[in-house]
Amino acid sequence: VGGLAGYGVSRSGGWGGWRCAARCGPAGRCCGPRGRPPAGSAPPAFGFLFDVDGVLVRGSQPVPAARRAFQRLADSGGRLRVPVVFLTNAGNCLRSAKARELSQALGLQVTVTGQGSAVPASEGARAILGFKHVVTIEALRKAYPLLDMVDLSRRPKQLGSDPPLSFLMPRVILFGEPVRWETSLQLITDVLLSNGNPGAELQEVPYPHLPILACNMDLLWMAEAKMPRFGHGTFLLCLESIYKKVTGRELKYEALIGKPSPVTYHYAQYLIQQQAEKQGWKAPIQRLYAVGDNPMSDIYGANLYNNYLKSARHSQAQAGLKRSPQSCESILVCTGVYRHGENRETERRTEAQTGETVFHGHRDFCCDPSLLEASHIVQDVDDAVQLAFKKENWS
Ligand SMILES: [Mg+2]
Repeated sequence: VGGLAGYGVSRSGGWGGWRCAARCGPAGRCCGPRGRPPAGSAPPAFGFLFDVDGVLVRGSQPVPAARRAFQRLADSGGRLRVPVVFLTNAGNCLRSAKARELSQALGLQVTVTGQGSAVPASEGARAILGFKHVVTIEALRKAYPLLDMVDLSRRPKQLGSDPPLSFLMPRVILFGEPVRWETSLQLITDVLLSNGNPGAELQEVPYPHLPILACNMDLLWMAEAKMPRFGHGTFLLCLESIYKKVTGRELKYEALIGKPSPVTYHYAQYLIQQQAEKQGWKAPIQRLYAVGDNPMSDIYGANLYNNYLKSARHSQAQAGLKRSPQSCESILVCTGVYRHGENRETERRTEAQTGETVFHGHRDFCCDPSLLEASHIVQDVDDAVQLAFKKENWS
């Protein structure tokens, strides 16, 4: 789910191998038998979904509370006591890099599993998503060197070094914000206007256009800088605006994946349940706690999924099916995009002055203020863990 957001965590070497650098030494030698809950404690009936940027890290810097939170989540032998999934929209780095980043931030050796790219995007799309012919923007640029004209220094010195593609591109997949926006905006628009053949002369504009799948709708995200940075949602906004201006029609998505889409939370829930089963924890997972810093992405997504769980339970009860978790509670932290209500105050002032509602969500998600209200607001991820433990009567 990362972009395909959503990384399950496992311990190094499988669930038996969480390594607590401070206490256990390598390979969890003091961690006791695999798959057993700590002596004397009941199996957890809840799990955590942690956002990464603005919750556990800020750019390359760890959030101090993250290490404390994970010390709390691990037992005296360094084993996680509760199932945990990292749910991030950042799908543009390798799983190994994400594991390194999180291991450093949390003081634990973690490996990352899930749908995030294990290999660069084109290979990832091939290996994980099952596509056979993948063309990256860079390959497209080489095959059609006259398309990318903004940067004079990148214009071709001579033509004909790379042959044009021998097939029409059937669809467009957007993983995360690109490095050179002008190049991607131009070439993706060319592909859509030409029905997958950007070397051709422009005929009638095809509509509906080729199918587009997009991951990660975050307008903004929080790195080391004091102000939020542009996310992939901002790139999508540009692409949608350009397409509409040029063609007079709406850009349409075949699917939008990543937070706040329910499909992303559904997959995270599957990973949580899988972890509990691997550990031999028999109690069904009843409650999920989703911790994030971005009201539009993390809170809206968790609340939307909570609504889905409520209606699913109703229909499951009617059909006599096995029940999914009862709830997904949203916990907003103040270490990232959101800061102690400042954001909402600024938005309210702007709304009063302009009469326009400030909504950072994607165009295709409804502006429902109730979905932006977190179940709880706490200072940081450590407070979030403590809050959930208290609610679960878990120490
Ligand atoms: Mg975040």
